[in-house]
Amino acid sequence: MAINNAYLNSVYEDLAARYAEQHEYLEAVNEVLETLVPVVESDPRLEKENIIGRIVEPERAIIFRVPWVDDQGKVQVNRGYRVQFNSAIGPYKGGLRFRDNVTLGMIKFLGFEQIFKNALTTLPMGGGKGGSDFDPKGKSDAEVMRFCQSFMTELFRHIGADTDVPAGDQGVGAREIGYLFGQYKRLKNEWTGVLTGKGLTYGGSLARTEATGYGLCYFTNAYLKANGQSFEGKKVVVSGSGNVAIYACQKATQLGGKVIAMYDSNGYIVDENGIDYKVMQVIKEQKRDRISTYVNYVPTAKYYEGCKGIWTVPADIYLPCATQNEIDAESARAIVANGAIGVFEGSNMPCTPEAISIIKGAGLLYSPGKASNAGGVATSGLEMSQNSERLSWSFEEVDGKLQGIMESIYNACADAAEKYGMPGDIQAGANIAGFLKVAEAMLAQGVC
Ligand code: NDP
Repeated sequence: MAINNAYLNSVYEDLAARYAEQHEYLEAVNEVLETLVPVVESDPRLEKENIIGRIVEPERAIIFRVPWVDDQGKVQVNRGYRVQFNSAIGPYKGGLRFRDNVTLGMIKFLGFEQIFKNALTTLPMGGGKGGSDFDPKGKSDAEVMRFCQSFMTELFRHIGADTDVPAGDQGVGAREIGYLFGQYKRLKNEWTGVLTGKGLTYGGSLARTEATGYGLCYFTNAYLKANGQSFEGKKVVVSGSGNVAIYACQKATQLGGKVIAMYDSNGYIVDENGIDYKVMQVIKEQKRDRISTYVNYVPTAKYYEGCKGIWTVPADIYLPCATQNEIDAESARAIVANGAIGVFEGSNMPCTPEAISIIKGAGLLYSPGKASNAGGVATSGLEMSQNSERLSWSFEEVDGKLQGIMESIYNACADAAEKYGMPGDIQAGANIAGFLKVAEAMLAQGVC
């Protein structure tokens, strides 16, 4: 869609021509630039110094071969990526995604979003993202270890505690971070906080595992409260059943909501009595099994094959926590028809542009992932601080800081939206507040 400002539109058109095949990256850039029109119009320095033309290009994109040997002794090859997008306000920071559909365009979309998300946390972290088209699902622990060691054997030369600090994302949890950290330490002969999401026995932070899901609910709670609502007594749909989804389910339940549906990439379960996050932990974190087996533990639950139907399950609050573009126009219409209060994103870019306009157009509350899922990276920032200080904070201390950060992010988004004439538009407010911080730093640092 054309952007209503000649400078912003020309930057976007140039990118669209150069990276025509990188659809998710172009979608993410377009979404941000559309909301920056009043900012660019009120500050001529942004065009004069071509801040937009610079911020949309990664400072560096590394692509590498990852060879490894499977359990049958066969040599496999995957592709590895690390996109170091923007270091204006701190070392690059952002997760690693291991999934078979990973491409450079996907990592660029995630890295671009990460710039603004990290800025919103107010911690000194630049934006980056990485990953591989390797999928740990169905692989043995030994295969995952050999892959992680090979991946780190190239990545280690590009990262460091003051340069670039990766973390987890889809397919990269505690097991993968452990193998990656072990190999980094072996290659560098040094113990530094080069990865976050580490285990508690070797420098990890309490509450990091829970942080993205908890943070999503803290943000949503603040947003609901500002609109005279709360989780209390509300029906909640959470998509996904991975790290973000499981802890969103736990916290939404603790805050008085009832989570009635969740999915994995094969299908979804519904239980009007409320989903037990502890059973989900056993299935997903311990057994690494499919969500369909939930009905074997909880007979009142029903399993349905396929994912899309979850958005037709009537609820008040929808928390997409699986993947990008999981809510399309049709699903958004179903959510609106269900009389929902709002959609609050736990995953990155789960709503297509059409879905966002349907949700906002119908007057529902809507928060973009870069604001509402920032709790994970915020707590990673707290893990970096603890590693630097050689300290370990209590669960309550980290959780308390996380809650404070998420409430401040909500306030920053609401204030920026108000200041630029779009009161209540949390999507625009998130982009503007995140952008302004990075843009000021880039202006101060000259053309670089
Ligand atoms: P996990 O790998 O732990 O879980 C991902 C979940 O999403 C799984 O249940 C997976 O199902 C499901 N899923 C993935 N792709 C699809 C698909 N195409 N259709 C349906 N379901 C799908 O990842 P995380 O929980 O860590 O990440 C989820 C989202 O949150 C991602 O968008 C990520 O970028 C974002 N995020 C994560 C953060 C973190 O701290 N982990 C921080 C901020 C954002 P299956 O098991 O079948 O693969």
